[in-house]
Amino acid sequence: IDTFGIKQALDQLGIKDINDGTSTGTQNFASGEILESYSPVDGQLIAKVRQSTKEDYEKVMASAQEAFKTFRMMPAPQRGEIVRQFGEKLRKHKEALGKLVSYEMGKSLQEGYGEVQEMIDICDFAVGLSRQLHGLTMHSERPGHRMYEQYHSLGIVGIISAFNFPVAVWSWNTALAWICGDVCVWKPSEKTPICGIACQNIIAEVLKENNLPEGISCLINGDYTIGELLSKDTRVPLVSATGSTRMGKIVAKTVAERLGKSLLELGGNNAIIVTPDADVKMTVIGAVFGAVGTAGQRCTSTRRLIIHESMYEKVKDAIVSAYGQLRIGNPLDQNNHVGPLIDKDAVRMYEAALEKVVKEGGKILVEGGVLSGEGYESGCYVKPAIAEADNSYEIVQHETFAPILYLLKYSGEVENAIDVQNGVAQGLSSAIMTNNLREAERFLSVAGSDCGIANVNIGTSGAEIGGAFGGEKETGGGRESGSDAWKIYMRRQTNTINYTTKLPLAQGIKFDL
Ligand code: NAD
Repeated sequence: IDTFGIKQALDQLGIKDINDGTSTGTQNFASGEILESYSPVDGQLIAKVRQSTKEDYEKVMASAQEAFKTFRMMPAPQRGEIVRQFGEKLRKHKEALGKLVSYEMGKSLQEGYGEVQEMIDICDFAVGLSRQLHGLTMHSERPGHRMYEQYHSLGIVGIISAFNFPVAVWSWNTALAWICGDVCVWKPSEKTPICGIACQNIIAEVLKENNLPEGISCLINGDYTIGELLSKDTRVPLVSATGSTRMGKIVAKTVAERLGKSLLELGGNNAIIVTPDADVKMTVIGAVFGAVGTAGQRCTSTRRLIIHESMYEKVKDAIVSAYGQLRIGNPLDQNNHVGPLIDKDAVRMYEAALEKVVKEGGKILVEGGVLSGEGYESGCYVKPAIAEADNSYEIVQHETFAPILYLLKYSGEVENAIDVQNGVAQGLSSAIMTNNLREAERFLSVAGSDCGIANVNIGTSGAEIGGAFGGEKETGGGRESGSDAWKIYMRRQTNTINYTTKLPLAQGIKFDL
């Protein structure tokens, strides 16, 4: 644990042996059971967290409600200043937090740092945005009237997040929600609770230095039952949930029953189309990084390669040969390309998927398997695998959160590949590799990719914070991060002002007394 400076990182981030999993106001409430967090990197216990009960939840919500009353009155640019200071603290802790992300979640150190960089980027974005939360002005049809719209703070934003981006997803939501004047209650994944504590420690310091209530940022560690409480709670006008489609369907239904708003960021089944005009070298780099990066545990991981028959053998050989060079091992060691899966359940799902693809008629091109022996003691390291398959297979239709890449062949025009790409229930990320303008434009047109993200000559994985992030169909339809994603964190109000002594009605309706 010390070889890679983890102990020092934990100290710097204020992580203790046993941590209080609930934090808000000047008090910490947590009286539930202990949750132990083990690293998939080496199987060691990182730290323990005391989880929250339903009673603790009530205390947190009361404190968030109270904090909202003050926070919404603070001018948005001043809230931006708080977010700016938060970004500065993240810069200071980038190395420590990046290491913790890598150690608790298992992604490579570079990707851990990258995740913290995304947090910094969204803070910068939000600071500028804090002076741009503007609505429109309209011309009234009535004389002596003025009409305009404004955006007001919404209230408490509930954030439910997944294990694979244990810190960035929280900040994508909070940085925007805070400049909008909302307060946030976060339930991180029970698989990465220590990352949650570290983030809370950082923001708590900023709030304290500014004499603001910590209720602006609340953390509740616990399992899905806390997520259920947030979904049912009418005090939470917006629930932003990131995770599996299974979870999203439950949250969507519960929140809709009370007519609340939900922002859903769910599973993907992302494909790269490789046309006869593709640059093979770029295709190989994009596809391999997309399929094995974060050990295939990104919502945007490349799961399917749809290759034109004329290119099929060439691309297949190049990719299979690239897989031969992959080094699998401790993700904190920068010589390795592929780290572990999150836990042994994920390993079992990976094994089951490989069995299933063979049963359905697929052909394994690069063998998978679980690694054992020195360096692999956690039992979570697996070999990235490739299988030739058909899009109709049930397993291909399903998102397996592991490094398994399916090769699919198409013939004829690019439309046929687009049909295959769109022929799944999910709609997150998609890409085309081509130097043919017609193919690229067709792919981006209304008759092209049906995903929230469509790229040309870039892989499916990895997005910049400046664009709105999210996907269609079973991916949930939500958009986070850049562009105008901030609007969901506010409520819109239309205002009409009459500055005359008459009271004309709209549509010319007459009503005289
Ligand atoms: P998961 O659905 O198992 O858990 C996600 C979160 O939901 C956890 O905090 C969990 O406690 C909570 N949860 C589970 N059941 C719930 C319920 N009934 N009510 C309320 N909350 C509940 O997902 P995971 O295994 O942590 O993450 C992997 C999944 O997340 C993949 O499907 C991946 O594609 C998806 N993901 C999507 C995006 C995106 O932006 N679209 C980003 C990251 C991850």
